[in-house]
Amino acid sequence: MATLEIRDLHVSVEDKEILRGVDLTVKAGETHAIMGPNGSGKSTLAYAIAGHPKYTVTSGEVLLDGESVLDMPVDERARAGLFLAMQYPVEVPGVSVSNFLRTAVTAVRGEAPKLREFSKEMRSAMAELQIDPAFAQRNLNEGFSGGEKKRHEILQLEMLKPKVAVLDETDSGLDIDALKVVSEGVNRFRSGETGVLLITHYTRILRYVKPDFVHVFAAGRVVEQGGPELAELLETEGYEKFTKAGASA
Ligand code: ADP
Ligand code: MG
Ligand code: MG
Repeated sequence: MATLEIRDLHVSVEDKEILRGVDLTVKAGETHAIMGPNGSGKSTLAYAIAGHPKYTVTSGEVLLDGESVLDMPVDERARAGLFLAMQYPVEVPGVSVSNFLRTAVTAVRGEAPKLREFSKEMRSAMAELQIDPAFAQRNLNEGFSGGEKKRHEILQLEMLKPKVAVLDETDSGLDIDALKVVSEGVNRFRSGETGVLLITHYTRILRYVKPDFVHVFAAGRVVEQGGPELAELLETEGYEKFTKAGASA
């Protein structure tokens, strides 16, 4: 059983402390939502787990199955079973979705899959996710709609089969189409072994995805934890109460 354990994580960006002691454990098959106001450090958590060089871990631990991922280079984190979807995926002209996926699969599995087998695997994953086969030949992220970006994200999940997926959702960019794609994708994965850490600003998505646990983030730490009912409370009452708690902590 895979477990991602974040222990008293402190992270700085350009010498400013953003995360001030985050504790969080995600086990296989669990869906956790991290919710919090803009600027509370949600994306910083995702970047720190991903190993983005701008985000300096000053203390604390991130363990996958008891092993520290913080000493691992980014590709090794992926190989260990972490999947990190970033809020603003970059456009890569001249690289197709298919090329990109094959590279990602190669990195994670440690060897290049045979082209024919890979194509078969990709086609079947795309069919299951009801993605148009022509999508594989599109240039990576070029002109992707919100829904297409999300479909690509879920396709990666399907192909890479990570132990734990960290999904950082945009606070504004998710149209209804994209929202449905993410929800269906997450619901697919949560029924399996994958642990999901879903980072979001709005409670909207939680109407489609029922998390097992909700963590409220304010000023760089978790200030409240609960079950799905906490998301409903946030929807009616907003973050204000928690923002105050975070600021005074
Ligand atoms: P959230 O995702 O919850 O909206 P972020 O993690 O993006 O919050 O940002 C938390 C704080 O860290 C903000 O004050 C933001 O300005 C700062 N921050 C995040 N990333 C950077 C960066 N690359 N450079 C400078 N400041 C940053
Ligand atoms: Mg601390
Ligand atoms: Mg963010």
